[in-house]
Amino acid sequence: MITFRNVNKHYGDFHVLKDINLEINQGEVVVVIGPSGSGKSTMLRCINCLETISDGELVVGGTKVNNKHTNINDFRRDIGMVFQHFNLYPHKTVLQNITLAPIKVLGEDKAKAEETAMYYLEKVGIPDKANSYPSQLSGGQQQRVAIARGLAMKPKVMLFDEPTSALDPEMIGEVLEVMKSLAKEGMTMVVVTHEMGFAKEVANRVVFMDEGRIVEEGKPIEFFENPHEERAKVFLKRVL
Ligand code: ADP
Ligand code: MG
Repeated sequence: MITFRNVNKHYGDFHVLKDINLEINQGEVVVVIGPSGSGKSTMLRCINCLETISDGELVVGGTKVNNKHTNINDFRRDIGMVFQHFNLYPHKTVLQNITLAPIKVLGEDKAKAEETAMYYLEKVGIPDKANSYPSQLSGGQQQRVAIARGLAMKPKVMLFDEPTSALDPEMIGEVLEVMKSLAKEGMTMVVVTHEMGFAKEVANRVVFMDEGRIVEEGKPIEFFENPHEERAKVFLKRVL
């Protein structure tokens, strides 16, 4: 579903991604961990063309992202993204937040889009909030709306960039639960998170990044119990 081949990226003189090689299969849940500044967000953002790569090859769902002939808008609709700060439209209701892109981008009629939105609001457990505004919701509820909004586009891949980092501790669980059920249903997911419990329980694979490189990757049980690389050991000691 996603293939990085010798991908490099620079911000000016700064070499932020170094020879990234990574293959993510359909239905796989890959959790990306690593210290702050190691390039996790940049790697995620390359997947949906929020950033361009400098060289190498990145193929998502059979489409090369660094290709002039690729229509970015067609391509992006297959990829949902959930951010740390929910990025909901404050002056639109929950329902309007979710139906906006399906109506504008997919050309769905309003009734159909609303029906789909309600389906996903049920799924994330807050159908009663359809007519509320984001400011009337807790952080955990807002993030669940953001996930429902991503799902309403029926993406092939969902990207999560520290989806629980801005939440109060008591709200982290409810968002992780939604993500877990999504994983169970077979969604292909790439998740940057500091929630090691989630990584252990849900990930098919853990990717550890440091200073722009993938330093180690493996099955969670192997990675957490027996990390090979010194930098991974040091990181795990700090976070576990
Ligand atoms: P992470 O998500 O692992 O914390 P990022 O991918 O956000 O790391 O950032 C990796 C490095 O790239 C950091 O040193 C950051 O300061 C730098 N960086 C991120 N975005 C930009 C940008 N737009 N321009 C220049 N440097 C950037
Ligand atoms: Mg980041």
